[in-house]
Amino acid sequence: MNEKFKSGFVAIIGRPNVGKSTFLNQILKQKVSIISPKPQTTRNQVRGIYTTETEQIIFIDTPGIHKPKHQLGEFMNKEALATLKDVDLILWIIDATMDFGTGDEFVIKQLKDLKTPIILVVNKIDLVKNKQKLFENILQFTESFKNFSEVYYISALTGENTEKLLTAIKNYLDYGPMYYPTDQVSDYPEKFIIAELIREKVLLLTRDEVPHSIAVIVDEMTPDSENPNLMNIRAIIFVERQSQKKIIIGSKGEMIKKIGTEARKEIVMLLGQKVFLELWVKVEPDWRNKQAQLRRLGYDLVK
Ligand code: GDP
Ligand code: MG
Repeated sequence: MNEKFKSGFVAIIGRPNVGKSTFLNQILKQKVSIISPKPQTTRNQVRGIYTTETEQIIFIDTPGIHKPKHQLGEFMNKEALATLKDVDLILWIIDATMDFGTGDEFVIKQLKDLKTPIILVVNKIDLVKNKQKLFENILQFTESFKNFSEVYYISALTGENTEKLLTAIKNYLDYGPMYYPTDQVSDYPEKFIIAELIREKVLLLTRDEVPHSIAVIVDEMTPDSENPNLMNIRAIIFVERQSQKKIIIGSKGEMIKKIGTEARKEIVMLLGQKVFLELWVKVEPDWRNKQAQLRRLGYDLVK
């Protein structure tokens, strides 16, 4: 093992839609985390792994820390906080176009007692017209919370200053092992990534007609018995209401067909093989508030 090798874990936090996934993808130059114009696409942790000759950074894209509205929210919160204690660095990403608000105060309250260093990352600066107003807004953050190690202004979308931030992040790494092989960019199970890809297609194609509270699980993934180069995948899309099921299926099944076609294309790229994708839509009223369902959907991994 190289004695000079450095490694560490970096948690990314921030409200939904601030650009956490976009940042991760910009750094990793690959689609690891799922991006969509709707809030809260990333519900589980997705690790992106950045490896060079001299260092390895394992990014943890934590679900947004925000005021819980239901059981799922509370669960996400606990999970995120437990993670934050263990990492080497926290990146708190905020949206430069949004004013300091009570949501931010809530996050600050949670971060207050943590010993982990925190970098404030002000994202989407490509959208900022009034720089003066932005600095005044950021001042509110830094006045309310004195413990930021550094502040960076970036655009995760255009890549402005992201290399600089990456260099800064490397200062927080310690000598340590290479936790993952160099060619691995994510340790997330393929099934989960596939489910998220399908979920992304549903959200994008149905636009605002179904809530982002839908869930997708891949309940079967098996190589075809006759054609070993073909993967048979079956996924279930959970919705809360019959009306949402109707939208996802569409008239004469047109929508579900489109979702399947679009999702299949990306799954083929991910797996590098032929794919047969079967999609089902199930109505499970109020699934967010049912513990058993959460467990079945894989949300019981929290310590
Ligand atoms: P997340 O919920 O925090 O993971 O946010 P996403 O990465 O999914 O981004 C939410 C939306 O903001 C997407 O439409 C992104 O394209 C957009 N976005 C992210 N970063 C930037 C940025 O630096 N500039 C601009 N203009 N848009 C961004
Ligand atoms: Mg995300």
